[in-house]
Amino acid sequence: MKVLFVASECAPFVKTGGLADVVGAVPRTLATLGDDVRILLPLYPALAERVSRPRTVMRFDDLLGGPARIRAVRDEELRLYLLDAPHLFDRPGNIYLDADGRDWHDNHLRFGALNVAAARMAAEGANRWRPQVVHAHDWQAGLAPLLIRMRHTGATPATVLTIHNMAFQGLFPWQTRYLFDIPDHLFTPDTTEYWGKFGFLKTGLVFADAITTVSPTYARELLTPEFGMGLEGVLASRGDAFSGIVNGIDTQTWNPATDPALQARYTSRSLDRRRTNRAALASRFALSDAPDAPLFSVISRLTTQKGMDLLLETIDDLVARGGQLAVLGSGDHGLEKAFVDASRRHAGSVGAVIGYDERLAHLMQGGSDALLVPSRFEPCGLTQLYALRYGTIPVVARTGGLADTVTDADPAAIRKRQANGIQFSPVHADTLRQAIERVFTLFADKSTWRGLMRNAMHAPVSWDRSAPRYHALYQTITARKS
Ligand code: ADP
Repeated sequence: MKVLFVASECAPFVKTGGLADVVGAVPRTLATLGDDVRILLPLYPALAERVSRPRTVMRFDDLLGGPARIRAVRDEELRLYLLDAPHLFDRPGNIYLDADGRDWHDNHLRFGALNVAAARMAAEGANRWRPQVVHAHDWQAGLAPLLIRMRHTGATPATVLTIHNMAFQGLFPWQTRYLFDIPDHLFTPDTTEYWGKFGFLKTGLVFADAITTVSPTYARELLTPEFGMGLEGVLASRGDAFSGIVNGIDTQTWNPATDPALQARYTSRSLDRRRTNRAALASRFALSDAPDAPLFSVISRLTTQKGMDLLLETIDDLVARGGQLAVLGSGDHGLEKAFVDASRRHAGSVGAVIGYDERLAHLMQGGSDALLVPSRFEPCGLTQLYALRYGTIPVVARTGGLADTVTDADPAAIRKRQANGIQFSPVHADTLRQAIERVFTLFADKSTWRGLMRNAMHAPVSWDRSAPRYHALYQTITARKS
């Protein structure tokens, strides 16, 4: 099966969050099932620096305001099609935000162009490679299913849209649709309109042959007003075309036995070696030497979605109880400042690194005792999966993919050797505080804690579990088209 992924990020080349990890990992496992997955991505400066000698396979005289081309390259065993459109992507800084932290003023053009390019690749193919399935990821690729249909060229590829986070919908002024020649009859509340605006994600939800999201629980939650963010009705109207497929992780990149970012590599049979990583972490976060206290970590966007404000409310108790906390993240400036303030207030017990640091994220997974993920909503979440793989016990809100991937350490689950984390709900500071208290209790019982760590490290987190579901979905939707 020939599948074209269309996405705005892909690890290890360009990453701001979990979307990149998924887009970079799942094609490798799909390849073992016989699928030829290629990825269409914008050519950002960071990518331009690293890829060598890309081949031009398609040219545009004028792609929404300037000349552009698609260039093909193979890197890290992935086949990439890079949309080289300097007027849209050749600029420094964050891929979504300008220097003031606001969305780039022309994001509708930037990601709109990505969709136009995808539709042309779907219609014409590039270098004799034409996809049978176009798999669009998030709002940045949400127009592709409609643009592909509008081209009406013989055998139209089947389309899938995956929602990685419903909070980001790509809403733009209604006139935006003229850029893509979308006729008036396709600007209605049943199609592309969202309360007077033109919605990229909504368009995808209406026109894709199949819609997925990244966990079964989030799929159910998205059908409710609390989580559906206004699109619950559209999703409900799609019936069986909408399903949840839980994310996996790249177990080679995230492997504590071989991870070059760790000071000491280990397996579930050499857990004591983690101490060396912990010492390195303590020094990086200026934490005092306290080997008997649980060390909690956070690797996250610092936002209210991630419950970071709730965590701030509990820090004093965590420290009073004798715990330590290492926070790596960036995002909301108020939250960033609050974590830095907490690290000053609790010098030696709380450390904060504001920024994005992939290697440090690996070291934190390999050296801390528990990972805190108190999200208000969480489509899937990947950090808790990395934590499981590294024997760091995830402490998670019972929502979305967190509910699907972590097994709470209740007495029955401990007895059955299935427990690998702690869940709490509803999500507020008091329940988080209680969950943290449970960590202290469990941590004090060394053999139970070790058991949790081993269960965690043996939990099924690889793509072997879920990639076959995408494979089957591609088969089903292409069979329906032919
Ligand atoms: P989301 O995509 O909502 O941000 P996920 O848990 O699905 O959350 O994925 C986050 C990914 O980004 C993980 O790979 C995590 O390790 C990484 N990450 C988040 N913040 C940082 C950071 N400050 N430094 C390094 N990696 C980070």
